[in-house]
Amino acid sequence: MGSNGRQKDNAGELSSYISLRKIADAHYSYEDSKYVIFGVPFDQTSSFRKGSSLAPDAVRIAYDNLESFDAYYGVDFGEIPICDLGNLSVSEDPEEVVDSVQRITELISGDDKIPIMIGGEHSITGGAIRNFKNSTMIIIDAHSDFRDEYMGSKFNHACITHRAFEVLGEGKIFSFGTRSISREEFEDKDFSKVKFIRAEEILRNGINSAVENAKIPSNSSIYFSIDMDGMDPSYAPAVGTPEPYGIRDTDVRALIRKFSKRIVGFDVLEFSPVYDNGNTAVLAAKLIQDFIGSREMKN
Ligand code: MN
Ligand code: MN
Repeated sequence: MGSNGRQKDNAGELSSYISLRKIADAHYSYEDSKYVIFGVPFDQTSSFRKGSSLAPDAVRIAYDNLESFDAYYGVDFGEIPICDLGNLSVSEDPEEVVDSVQRITELISGDDKIPIMIGGEHSITGGAIRNFKNSTMIIIDAHSDFRDEYMGSKFNHACITHRAFEVLGEGKIFSFGTRSISREEFEDKDFSKVKFIRAEEILRNGINSAVENAKIPSNSSIYFSIDMDGMDPSYAPAVGTPEPYGIRDTDVRALIRKFSKRIVGFDVLEFSPVYDNGNTAVLAAKLIQDFIGSREMKN
């Protein structure tokens, strides 16, 4: 008997049952994509509550619950060229992981695509930002993250703004939602060279007024980094280092909408599903949709 018409094994049918988890709207190959999502399941330097290594897949699961169509942005996310590469294989060495993130981000943006990174903890942004030396950086964070070194490492998540400052220099970093600064950071000679916009100012005067006062350069490209703890724990309870009195989820959405067309790299970090009631996961997923949707919006 010949084997005409018969596949050599059952791989085809098996793959219809079993698949690596991907963002539900990521239907495109890498080659044809414009937005490239990848997860970095790394929480080695988390100083308080671990678990952000579980975040990439938790965000993907939560994303399944979101509609693909968005009437406000006028887009169907399923039709936007989005690719999900899956998760980076990580070692336990933060410097090594940061270097891998640098390389991955370099490869993606070198192909004129937009990297969207799901952390993991904040230290990994230090790798991505090395590829955007001429960009402005917008950070959402409760913490100033301006320690030069923490717990024996320059690659600790508490040092990310300092590492980014070394890459970008003075007047290029705008961190929204600040409400936790150590004395050591506050007295650092370079502290004033980063613009920290206090959560209190945003809550009192509104996000639009805070943006105006911040005087973000008007033409540069932007790298946008979201530490989920920048938002109030009532919106994002499941984070590595929760801090009361945060900004609103809609403040962050407003920032994304305002700058999305200029954003060349985007990340969502510090979400720890272990502490979630489900709300943080879906908010992280929604922020990714808000970025892509507002960037693709026609007017
Ligand atoms: Mn942070
Ligand atoms: Mn933080």
